[in-house]
Amino acid sequence: MAKKTVLITGAAGFLGSHLCDRFIKEGYRVLGMDNLITGSLKNIEHLVKLGDFEFYEHDVSKFVHVPGELDYILHFASPASPIDYLKIPIQTLKVGSLGTHNLLGLAKAKNARMLIASTSEVYGDPTVHPQTEEYYGNVNPVGPRGVYDEAKRFQEAMTMAYHTYHGLETRIVRIFNTYGPRMRLNDGRVLPAFIGQALRGEDLTVFGDGSQTRSFCYVDDLIEGIYRLLLSDYAYPVNIGNPDEITIGQFAEEIIKLTGTSQKVIYKPLPKDDPMQRQPNIDKAREILGWEPQVSRAEGLKITYEYFKTLSEDELFTKEHNTFEGYIRK
Ligand code: UDP
Repeated sequence: MAKKTVLITGAAGFLGSHLCDRFIKEGYRVLGMDNLITGSLKNIEHLVKLGDFEFYEHDVSKFVHVPGELDYILHFASPASPIDYLKIPIQTLKVGSLGTHNLLGLAKAKNARMLIASTSEVYGDPTVHPQTEEYYGNVNPVGPRGVYDEAKRFQEAMTMAYHTYHGLETRIVRIFNTYGPRMRLNDGRVLPAFIGQALRGEDLTVFGDGSQTRSFCYVDDLIEGIYRLLLSDYAYPVNIGNPDEITIGQFAEEIIKLTGTSQKVIYKPLPKDDPMQRQPNIDKAREILGWEPQVSRAEGLKITYEYFKTLSEDELFTKEHNTFEGYIRK
């Protein structure tokens, strides 16, 4: 039997590249697409040599064409860190809106099933805790995160419309904070920021008083959840994340312990609209997918730290370190 073909957008990014690995491992033919704005070919160079992997450098905000049959499309192309949205807000809006529309059109033309990467950001700064899929969210459309949050909310609405109006097979995963090897050291997110600072011998920058919370999921767990969701028959949004919640202050202490750095924590202003708390309710994933995270934060952080230690001095000391300073608009 011919191999099934999957198109993965954002293939050169953190999650996209892990998805490519998983689908290759499962025996699929994988078409990876990326415009390389935030992704890196380094993440997929081991795949490019394989016969079952093809790479297309393309911006999905423009018309998308791939030859031949397609069974699945996974739309993972998007800037995904708050600093990236501030640097490239229009691209962030376009990839979530126009990009999604183009890919839904492609899915319809090819009769493929489409899974979109949505986000816990659709809940904004949540007033319901932990967040269930039924919660509608608390998003500021004109704040700095609005370009991402609203693009993702539009993406969900557009995907649902293709599902109900065209009968397209669709899946929506709401991804909570995820970490692991291949995160960009300079993407500004808290884990690469702290580990990068520890490795460079700098103090760890906690924004605000560090009492805001996040719940971190190891990448392998997330990929397993996405894989199961794609193959399920459930078209409504499903949270995938690890409910193990921690304050950012405690998280900084964990990184200090993990890396053995003698640096200390310093405090910086909290960026505008930074959610105060975030924790997924994963009852749906448990029930529908039989899924729950397997990797503890202690284990996951160890693996991730080992990865960051393999980066070169050049990568570690690149001038282009993202920081919120200068982007903070009160
Ligand atoms: N954060 C921090 N120091 C940093 C980077 C981030 O204290 O150097 C905080 C940030 O303000 C937020 C949390 O860590 O409260 C998680 O931020 P991240 O950018 O990783 O993702 P978010 O969950 O906010 O999208």
